[in-house]
Amino acid sequence: MSEVWIVAHDPVAGNALAGSARALGDAVNAISLGAGALAAADLTLLVEADPSTPVEAYAAAVAEVLASRAAKLVVLDSSAQSRLLAGQLAAHLGTSPVNATGVVSTDPLVVTRLAYGGLAVATEELASAVAVLVLAAGALPPADGTGAGAAEPLALAPSAGVRLLETRPRGGESVDLTAAKRVVGVGRGFAAQADLELARELAGRLGAELACSRPIAEGVNWMPAERYLGVSGATIKPDLYLAVGISGQIQHLVGVSHSKVIVAINKDAKAPIFAHADFGVVADLYQVLPALVAAL
Ligand SMILES: Cc1cc2nc3c(=O)[nH]c(=O)nc-3n(C[C@H](O)[C@H](O)[C@H](O)COP(=O)(O)OP(=O)(O)OC[C@H]3O[C@@H](n4cnc5c(N)ncnc54)[C@H](O)[C@@H]3O)c2cc1C
Repeated sequence: MSEVWIVAHDPVAGNALAGSARALGDAVNAISLGAGALAAADLTLLVEADPSTPVEAYAAAVAEVLASRAAKLVVLDSSAQSRLLAGQLAAHLGTSPVNATGVVSTDPLVVTRLAYGGLAVATEELASAVAVLVLAAGALPPADGTGAGAAEPLALAPSAGVRLLETRPRGGESVDLTAAKRVVGVGRGFAAQADLELARELAGRLGAELACSRPIAEGVNWMPAERYLGVSGATIKPDLYLAVGISGQIQHLVGVSHSKVIVAINKDAKAPIFAHADFGVVADLYQVLPALVAAL
């Protein structure tokens, strides 16, 4: 019987992962670091994780349990904490973590992952004795199935390395672009920061969130990093994505290609974005945006 092991620190992400991980093995077991019992798993080993300790401090102890249970496939979600934990877990288990965008087969274990900063998708067979996968959102089809739901307490001690002293709300704005139904994305086609008001006004009329390409957030710093889309930014799935003055490089498209409808406004008819857009306007954004705002 093939077993999949999940290591979860969040009940929602853990249950979602346990449900979809059923596609990877006959039994889905979990080590829950303060996430409670996972109904979608067959067996959850319940660790009373100390909330003042970062989850990655449990890596050595969790790795020991996984090794003693002869785990061959260990799966985590792609949250920042899980990625940190995955790296340390893999090191303790003598392997490397793999950020998978999909699982092609389990025997042999073949996964896909983004390569060259999202320019290519690599399909790789993982031949190591134990594999630690960080599954990107959407890597496996969602499945609600419930498991046997058994739970056993497990006492684990965190390593003494890092202690959380304080938590504070993050400064700046926080935005959940992934939940937005409409998104207006701005790119380097805008000549000045003040001109973004045009897009902001349009987004307001459309009831859309404002987002951007990476250079706008991490080049000229006109918008916060939370708002850039792409392989190293946010991935969105809105009903409408309106790309304004964005060329459509692959690293950007990776984050927006699941939009239901893509509309592009670009003055260069050869801009790559048009090959991926459902509707395209070849024109100067400084003429189109005021006209759109006036019409809406
Ligand atoms: C490892 C790596 C990771 C990366 N990750 C990301 C990522 O996650 N997200 C991301 O976005 N990028 C990412 N990039 C950068 C990416 O390669 C592109 O450089 C970037 O997406 C381009 O941004 P842009 O489309 O705004 O700018 P440009 O490519 O400069 O395009 C500007 C567009 O505006 C058009 N334009 C100019 N003036 C007007 C006007 N008046 N009216 C209408 N159109 C006009 C131009 O024709 C052009 O097509 C990454 C790069 C690397 C190497």
